Parts: sequence; structure tokens; C-alpha cells
Amino acid sequence: MCLTNFQYNAQVAVEYIYIHWPFCPYKCTYCPFVAFAGLDKYMEQYHQALMQELDWFDRNHQGSRKIKTIFVGGGTPSTYPDRCLLDMSGRLKSVFEWDEQLEFSIEVNPGTVRPEQLKLWKGAGINRLSIGVQSLNDQVLKKLNRLQSAADVRRLLDQASYHFDNLSIDIIVGLPDVSQADWRAMIDEMVTWPIKHVSMYFLMVHENTPLYRGVNRGDVLLPTDDWVVDQYYWTVERFKQAGFNQYELSNFAQPGFESHHNQAYWERKPYRGFGVGACSFDGELRFQNEKNLLKYFKTMEHDCTAFTFVESLTRSQVWLEQIMLGMRSAKGVNINELLQNLTEIEVREFNTQLAVLQEAGFILVQQGRLYLKPKGLSVENEVVVRLSI
Ligand code: SF4
Repeated sequence: MCLTNFQYNAQVAVEYIYIHWPFCPYKCTYCPFVAFAGLDKYMEQYHQALMQELDWFDRNHQGSRKIKTIFVGGGTPSTYPDRCLLDMSGRLKSVFEWDEQLEFSIEVNPGTVRPEQLKLWKGAGINRLSIGVQSLNDQVLKKLNRLQSAADVRRLLDQASYHFDNLSIDIIVGLPDVSQADWRAMIDEMVTWPIKHVSMYFLMVHENTPLYRGVNRGDVLLPTDDWVVDQYYWTVERFKQAGFNQYELSNFAQPGFESHHNQAYWERKPYRGFGVGACSFDGELRFQNEKNLLKYFKTMEHDCTAFTFVESLTRSQVWLEQIMLGMRSAKGVNINELLQNLTEIEVREFNTQLAVLQEAGFILVQQGRLYLKPKGLSVENEVVVRLSI
């Protein structure tokens, strides 16, 4: 039996879509995502289920479908079988109206890409590659069970730059066993690469991951917060010198290559996700698809919505989201707009906390806008909690 549609607003204009491809050739020790290693035998069936989910959307959605971005994320979408990927992009073309400036990204992992795929992806309309580099230290990657090498990365960049102008890389700061010299040499090399965008994430240790257990046992030694923040500051400067604008605390782009898809998330615009565990937001409510692969197949067989979880955000959660997402971006958050619907007591409490956090150097208030400072990054959650209403 189908679950209800959870009051999803079928009238909402869908401009940003996400497709989840959950298969990976290995499972990294730090991975918190809905990603499965060793289940490649389900790829074809999964693709069919995804197409059913798109069909369901096609029949039920009543709002505009002119899309500005498509992001195929994972998992490791570079393992999407060629024929299925062409089928998927063809289906997306028939269900949605593509904006002339459509940003169509796919996440790819070095070591999983054949040169002929690059041409095929371009033919399918993909115009941006997001490459999971993370580190160029082979020993470090091996310990994290990330089975790719620096040579794979360099080869992929070399090949991809023939076909794609818009190349982005992901890197992680704070990985164990990376020396300062190692890190800086890596960044010095990266600024010479033919890339337009960098996302620099802080290593997060999520519960129920092998990394979490390793850290708790004392087998894995993480660098200190101070060390991480130092490397972060240095890297920000290095990317700036190399012509990358920092448009969000973790994101750097050459002018005109900021990711429209990321910006939509930060600006809390509605988006629609397809695939196992994918999330959607209709401007009011947040939905999540079934996270279990076999249950996701069943749901699709019964021609149901894939949503299994809905969250209606309270006034205080919306407020926190606005602060959390906004203060990380280069635009910051407009404080007057934030205060508009607060009571007098709430405004007073907010201003008190603002002064304390500013004094501690965690945030910056400038021309009526609030920004998170890099020093506040390692205590971001506490900063947000302090500012909650
Ligand atoms: S490649 Fe990405 S999604 Fe796959 S296991 Fe590693 S971190 Fe997770």
C-alpha cells in the first residue's frame, strides 16, 4: 500500500533537481551518505526504479518544470552504466523543460572514469564535473579506504579538461596523517590545475562510521582544531591569490563559475530529489525518500511516492536554517530581515548573544549583515545554538 503524499505541494515551481546514484566501488571510512559498496548487481534495477519515480512525478506534478540545475550525486555516479545514463538524461529532457543556461553536474571519482565516458556525458548534456579528489596522499587515502590514487586524479583532470571547461574539485581538510608541508604542496599543485571551482570540506566524524570507531579506540589521531583552522586560513589566501573568489566559507570559484545548485540550497529555494534517500524541499516542508534500497524498489513497483519522511519546520528551525546557511555565504545574512518577526524579548536576547560572539571573534557584523568568521567554523553548531530563539 502506498504511503500518503505527505501534502507535497505539487504546484511549486521545480527549478533545481537532484538525482541520487548510491553505488560505490568501495566504502570510505568517513562516509555518512546513502551509498552502497558491493551492490553493483542492482544498478540496472535501480535505474529502472529511478525512471519510475520520474514517471510518478511527471503524472502528479502540476507546477512549472523549467529547471536551472541538475545535480547527479552519490555515491559514485561515474559508475552509472552508459546506456542507462543516456536513458536518464533523455527522460529528464522529456519530463522537464531545460533552461538554456542549465547547469548539469555529475559527481565523479578518480579511478572510476573511462575516457569515452567523458564524451558520452557531454553528449548527454552534462556540462560540469565535480571531482572527488579529497587528498593527493595515497597512503592517507588508503587508510580511509578510498581506493583512488593521486595518479588517477591527475589522469582524470588531464582527460576531462579536453571535454569540460567547468571542472570542480572536492577536498577535505583535517584528514589524519597529513602534514602541513603535504597539505600546502597539494594546494600549490591544485592552483595550477585547469579547474574553475573548489569545495573544501572539513572532515566530519559521523557516528556509526569506521572512522568514528577508530578515533574512539585511539587508532586514528585527528589533527587539532587549531591546526585545521590554520591550514584553512592559509588555503583561503592561496586560492584568493590564484583568482578564486570565496563565495561561501567552503566554496571558491573563478568569476562566473559559482555553483548555482549549491546556491539554491543555501538560499532555501525549493528543490526536488529523486532516488534512494534523496531529499526534497517544497519551500515549506522537507521530505526524504526511502533510504533502504530494496524498500525503495518495492515502493516504486507499487507506483507510489518515494517519500517516507516529512518534516515541517518550526518557526525556530526556519530561523536557524536562515542563519546557518546565510552566515556562511559571502553575502551574509541581513540582520533586519531576520529580526522582523521576533518579539522584543527575542530581539534583546539575540543582540546580547551577537555581541558575545562578535567579541569572541566567531562572527562579524558589518553594514547590517551577519557573517561567520573562519574562527567560528570549528564551533559553528554552538554559534548557531547561541543565536537560536
Ligand atoms: S565515494 Fe563518497 S559516497 Fe562513496 S563511500 Fe566514499 S564518501 Fe561515501
